[in-house]
Amino acid sequence: MTANLLDFDLEGLAGFCERLGEKRFRATQLFRWIHQKGAAQFDDMTDLAKSLREKLKTSAHIQAPPVISQHISADGTIKWLFDVGGGNAIESVFIPEDDRGTLCVSSQAGCAVGCRFCSTGHQGFSRNLTVSEIIGQLWFAEHFLRKHLATQDRVISNVVMMGMGEPLQNYQPLVQSLRVMLDDHGYGLSRRRVTVSTSGVVPMMDRLGQDCAVALAVSLHAPNDALRDNLVPLNRKYPLQELLQACQRYLAFAPRDFITLEYCMLDGVNDTSEHASELIRLIRAHSSHAWCKLNLIPFNPFPASGLGRSKAAAVQAFAKQLSDAGIVTTVRKTRGDDIDAACGQLAGDVMDRTEVGKRIERQRKIMLTPVASPDNEPTGVLKS
Ligand code: SAH
Ligand code: SF4
Repeated sequence: MTANLLDFDLEGLAGFCERLGEKRFRATQLFRWIHQKGAAQFDDMTDLAKSLREKLKTSAHIQAPPVISQHISADGTIKWLFDVGGGNAIESVFIPEDDRGTLCVSSQAGCAVGCRFCSTGHQGFSRNLTVSEIIGQLWFAEHFLRKHLATQDRVISNVVMMGMGEPLQNYQPLVQSLRVMLDDHGYGLSRRRVTVSTSGVVPMMDRLGQDCAVALAVSLHAPNDALRDNLVPLNRKYPLQELLQACQRYLAFAPRDFITLEYCMLDGVNDTSEHASELIRLIRAHSSHAWCKLNLIPFNPFPASGLGRSKAAAVQAFAKQLSDAGIVTTVRKTRGDDIDAACGQLAGDVMDRTEVGKRIERQRKIMLTPVASPDNEPTGVLKS
C-alpha cells in the first residue's frame, strides 16, 4: 500500500522524501501543492522534477475520506458526511459568517466519553481517526469551497475541533493535524483561530499546552461534581476542581487570555438561577481575574437523550445573571438547523448577522456552480 501524504505534517513529509532519496526541502514544495493548492495528482505539480513525480506515483497518494453526502442549509451552513470505512461515517460542518468561515472537524468515529446530551456519545466509540482523516476534512472542504466560489483566497479562516469525538483522546493524530493547520506552508491558521474543545481530559490539556497551544474550549455543562458526573461521565476521573486548575495552567500557554467554557442548556437540569449562582462561585473560586468566557449552547435535542432544550427565557435569565456578575457570556446561535448540522453538537456562533445578503449571494454561487472534476479531487455532489 502506498503512503497517503495527508497523513504527514511537514516534518513527517520531509522524512518521507528522505526515504525516497530526495532532499528534505522538496517536502515543502510538495506540502504547498497539497495543502495550499489542493493538488491530488502528482502530474499537476509542475515544478517538481519528472523523476520525483514518477517516484511519488508509485509510492504515494493523496486522498481524503470519500464524501457520502453533502447538505446545504438555507443559512449557508454545509454539512458533509465522510465514509471512514467499516460502516463508520464522520461529519464536518462549514459555517460561513460575514467575517469568517469556520469548519467544525471530527476527531474520532464515535466517542468513548458518553455524555448524556450528545448523540455521538450515545453511539459509543468506534475508533480514532488518522491524521489523513482529520486533515482530509479540512483539505477537502477548503479546496471544494474555493473551487465552487471560484476563488484562490482562503475560505476557511477558523477551525473548531467540535465535531464527533473527544480530540484529547486521540492525541498524537490531533497534534499532528493541528501542526498542518498552523504551518505557514500548510493552512497558515493562527493559533487563536484553531480551537480544541474538550470534555476535560486533564493530563492531555497540559500536554497540549506544551506541544501545540491553540485556543481551548472546555465543555463544562454543570456547576457541581454531582451533576457533572451524571452529564459528562469523565468528570468522575477528572472532577471540576482538577479541571479548572488545568484551565488555569493552560492560560500560561493559550493564544488568548481566556478559555471558553461551553455550557449546554438543558431544560430543568442545569439551567436554574441556583445553577447560575453556583457557576459564578465556581468560576470566581479559581481566579479573581476574568479568565473565561461562557458560551451557552442551546441543546440540540434527540429522542434517546430524554432531555429537552431550555426555554429561551431561562437561557436569557441565566445569561443575564452571569453577565451581571461580570462573566462574559454569549448565547450561541444555532445554525443549519434545517439540515441537522449538529452531529448533536452544533458549532454555531455568536455573531449577529448583519450582511445576510452577502452570504446568500455566496450560497447561491455555491449551489449554481457546476461540479466537474476528476474523482480524487476535492469535489462533491451538490444537493440543495
Ligand atoms: N468532545 C469534545 C468536542 C466535541 S463536542 C467536547 O465534548 O468538548 C463539541 C461541543 O458540542 C461540546 O461542547 C459538546 O458538549 C456540545 N454538544 C454535544 N452534544 C450536544 C447537543 N446535543 N446539543 C448541543 N451541544 C452539544
Ligand atoms: Fe464525546 Fe464531546 Fe459528545 Fe461528550 S460531548 S460524548 S466528549 S463528543
